[in-house]
Amino acid sequence: MPTPLDAIRTDVTIDPYKIGNLLFDPGYRETRTRIASILGSDRIFDKSLRPHLNHRQLLRLSLRIFKRLLELRDAHGWSDLEFTLACRLQDESLPTSLHDITFVPVIASQGTQEQQAYWLPRCKRYEVVGCYAQTELAHGSNVQELETTARFDVTSGEFVISSPRLESTKWWIGGLGVMANHTIVQAVLHLPLPGNPLEYKPYGPHLFIVPVRSLKTHEPLPGITIGDIGPKAYGGFGTVDNGYVRFREVRIPRENMLMRHAQVTLTGEYVRPAHDKLSYGSMVALRAGIPVNLGWSLARAVTIALRYCIHRRQFAATPDGPEQPVITYASVKHRLYPLLATSYAYIIAGRELWAMYQKMLEEVVQQGNMESLAEMHSLSTALKVKSSTDCAKGLEEARKCMGGHGYSHMSGIGPLFANATASQTYEGDNYVISQQTARSLLKHVSALRSSSSTPTSLTASRSSSSRSSSRSSGSSTSSRSSISSRSSPSSISTEHHLPPSSSYLLNTLLAPAQFYTQRSSVKTSGDWYSPAHQLSALEHRAAYLVLELSTSLSTSTPQNWSSHTHTTHRIASAHADVFVATTFRKCVARASSSNLLPDDCAYGLRLLCDIFCLGTLVAGLPELFESGFVDATQARLLRRALDEAVLVRMDVGSAVALTDAFAFTEFEMAGSVLGREDGKVYEGMWRAVREGESGKEREFLEECLEITGHYRRRRGSAKL
Ligand SMILES: Cc1cc2nc3c(=O)[nH]c(=O)nc-3n(C[C@H](O)[C@H](O)[C@H](O)COP(=O)(O)OP(=O)(O)OC[C@H]3O[C@@H](n4cnc5c(N)ncnc54)[C@H](O)[C@@H]3O)c2cc1C
Repeated sequence: MPTPLDAIRTDVTIDPYKIGNLLFDPGYRETRTRIASILGSDRIFDKSLRPHLNHRQLLRLSLRIFKRLLELRDAHGWSDLEFTLACRLQDESLPTSLHDITFVPVIASQGTQEQQAYWLPRCKRYEVVGCYAQTELAHGSNVQELETTARFDVTSGEFVISSPRLESTKWWIGGLGVMANHTIVQAVLHLPLPGNPLEYKPYGPHLFIVPVRSLKTHEPLPGITIGDIGPKAYGGFGTVDNGYVRFREVRIPRENMLMRHAQVTLTGEYVRPAHDKLSYGSMVALRAGIPVNLGWSLARAVTIALRYCIHRRQFAATPDGPEQPVITYASVKHRLYPLLATSYAYIIAGRELWAMYQKMLEEVVQQGNMESLAEMHSLSTALKVKSSTDCAKGLEEARKCMGGHGYSHMSGIGPLFANATASQTYEGDNYVISQQTARSLLKHVSALRSSSSTPTSLTASRSSSSRSSSRSSGSSTSSRSSISSRSSPSSISTEHHLPPSSSYLLNTLLAPAQFYTQRSSVKTSGDWYSPAHQLSALEHRAAYLVLELSTSLSTSTPQNWSSHTHTTHRIASAHADVFVATTFRKCVARASSSNLLPDDCAYGLRLLCDIFCLGTLVAGLPELFESGFVDATQARLLRRALDEAVLVRMDVGSAVALTDAFAFTEFEMAGSVLGREDGKVYEGMWRAVREGESGKEREFLEECLEITGHYRRRRGSAKL
């Protein structure tokens, strides 16, 4: 008996496997299927157990899970990649995750050759398990105000680590609560003043490896007060032991300061790093990895919600007709299809961002070339901000699309949301870090202005910008055909080199009278399907926001940055939108032109890209209006284009095929009863309550009877 999903699939011409070729590295799907089937046959990995456990039970389970994964790694001879994949398939971070994603990479990027040779093999064996302790009770965002100190004692050649007061307790540290035996600590370096060893001078925060638990007994070491900070919001990160630690004059050898860049000599002299940006390389890595992971979380939620909305029926279209699947309602399609497009957008753009990060790393390590570090920092920050905002919101929307059952743990979306929403805060609060992107874009504007010989006049210079190359990613019209402007930015001459992601800033060189008279030349809703029209509108919006901030800062007296921190969030988001849309467009263009995809697949992918770009433009209408780039008619046409893309062009069969392209294994989908492939949702829910906790309600009999008998008892005693 075919399932409703199978029935839908029979009419679809999109080949999910071929689409999937754009989302995965070669061989990845097969490896994932093989590992998932091993995990699926081991009860310890059963995700249905987790919602019934409290925080401490979850921690114990996740420690056991990790131990079992190590056993399986040895038994099956898994490579590092396969082992990482097996950990990822758990869906939740483990007490060792921060060891792998922070402790090890920070030593690899900030440690000397000798430090790496000493620590990394121990880390690989999980003999040393570490984490990264930056945040304190009273300070997180403001790293310069961290209070933990590392004082260098020249006599013994040791650093003395101290937490001067309660507020300087390290807090939130993933992996520290129960598991880690070492931590990297951000502490303010204090060095003795030359000629006066009793007086110390602070040199700002630096990184130190500090042992916190005994390798033999796992008990806290002398001077260390350590523990777990307890359950977190929405039950998220339940399997992670975020912890606290205080240091009471803890001595560590000088060699434990990570000294690849800044150094302290035996005699206590400070050697400055050659490049002051080098220390944030590891932070860039963490941020650069976030968008693709969040894209995959959203992809899973959309797959679940779409399957459920095909199965779920409410209301009949005619009095005697059958009830309709809820996916047929425009409001459901309008929420789910753009989310499907958003998940593709972040997977594709996130993979590109990660590839750019790898390339940058190669340039830094092999050639000592730092040029792209600042650009990677700014771009990865913008993408972290936008992807975390969109995906957290999107996961919640996917849950709401499923009505009441969406709120049950059985939907499988709860844990995805609880973990994703935290990404708006960790690795830097979004409102705080978006200022870094905005500052970088403002710097470009100012450099453009000072290096431009003819700021508002018209001399062609292509070397200054890759605007033309970014535009060529669109499939049809060129950039200028979409803008009806009085002057063209491509004709402005400047020596300043703009990175491709910021090439649209060239527009800010125009005189205000010219910039604000630029108009979109869209005349029909069909025009909005042109990549050139879409991208030029997104670019104009981003340039407008940067220009507005630049103007405000130059006219406000005194210049007050902090009164603009809500704007910087919008700037980082608009900047990310340009990159994501451009990258998605390029991917579609490449796949279509190189015959990588058959026509039907290419059409489906192009449609998704249109839905993403049109949806992003609709969300950006306030700025597009404000700047005068679109008028009311063009805004109406834009909404009409999105309506048509979602309600007419996209059909449910194609949407199913596009979620099939994610190729989620049975093991990954097992956390969701609502997303069952066979559509037997109600049977699954019934079985889950009857087999899981059924009969245990008897343990509440006594309390319930006490309540219902309360009145009777009082009446009885009153009679006496
Ligand atoms: C799940 C999770 C895991 C974590 N893991 C770790 C870890 O392993 N190691 C670690 O060191 N830390 C960790 N953290 C801590 C995290 O990095 C910080 O909480 C985060 O950087 C935010 O800093 P904060 O808490 O100081 O926020 P605050 O800066 O106190 O923010 C409070 C509010 O003030 C606003 N604000 C603050 N400054 C500004 C400003 N200049 N302009 C505008 N608005 C401002 C913020 O937007 C926010 O709304 C984790 C946090 C979470 C939630």
